[in-house]
Amino acid sequence: MRGVRSTAEGIQVVSTAKAPTGGVRVSVAGSGICGSDLHLASFGPSSVTLGHEFCGRLDDGTPVAVLPIVTCGHCERCLAGHDQQCASALGAMYGVSLDGGLADEVWVDPGCAKVLPPGVALDNACLVEPIAVALHGINRAGVEAGMRVLVIGAGPIGLCTIAAARSVGASVDLVANRRRRIEAGERLGANTSVGTEYDVVLEAAGTQGSMDKAIQLVRPGGTISILGNFWDPVAVGLGFQIKEVTLLPSYTYGHHHGVSEFEDAVRVLGAVPDLGDTIVTHRFPLDDAAEAFRVAGNRSTDAIKVVVHP
Ligand SMILES: [Zn+2]
Ligand SMILES: [Zn+2]
Repeated sequence: MRGVRSTAEGIQVVSTAKAPTGGVRVSVAGSGICGSDLHLASFGPSSVTLGHEFCGRLDDGTPVAVLPIVTCGHCERCLAGHDQQCASALGAMYGVSLDGGLADEVWVDPGCAKVLPPGVALDNACLVEPIAVALHGINRAGVEAGMRVLVIGAGPIGLCTIAAARSVGASVDLVANRRRRIEAGERLGANTSVGTEYDVVLEAAGTQGSMDKAIQLVRPGGTISILGNFWDPVAVGLGFQIKEVTLLPSYTYGHHHGVSEFEDAVRVLGAVPDLGDTIVTHRFPLDDAAEAFRVAGNRSTDAIKVVVHP
């Protein structure tokens, strides 16, 4: 079996043959490369196979998207529906602390294999994971039908956020600065004529500039929902304080009104047929994973989402 790991020589496809670790086997159909995979790879060699955005088939042929976080299911946070806050979650994530989906196959907890209904193409079902991130961000901010919201950033998370906000009936404006990504946002229903005084700004870039923009464009007393990962700290100043902005950090996904946001993401993927082919710009076979990472991490390639298909 092949798996993609960060090694002293960079990203490599290595032989990972070993006894099954329990659970169910998923023969991987597609695995997305996330911005956080690029960061993880930059931290040096890893002892686990990368990839937390993946889908495939069970041994009986059932198509599934894999929820990459194994939670305990019985702590106070899990029982409250905030599984993303479970103490077990960080230490039990496929592709981060457990072998992930950039591989031919992976063994997962049976509860993590979420069956795809007919009509959801397996080719793009690795997007269920970033869509779930987007749904959690809009749910945290209480985005609902008729609301006018602003999305900042049109990487995969920003684009999934546009689709998620549109799927609940919100009107979405977009601030982004790369032509291909702006066009992708427009295809998903975002307006690029930007106003001011937004009730909700969904920040999906994770930079100082995007934070400054969010504070500038949110209305006094409004809400900024943080979906982008701040790998470097950002500062907020007096403008933030004077506006009395509510800041809502958002991390992965859990339950909203009792509904699993990961499972709800399957619904969004099925409801927006263009979503996959709008976001996925590059596809590579598993043996070319090093090149896939290079393309994903190099601005000049203009890649949005790079997917590896074993
Ligand atoms: Zn990710
Ligand atoms: Zn728990």
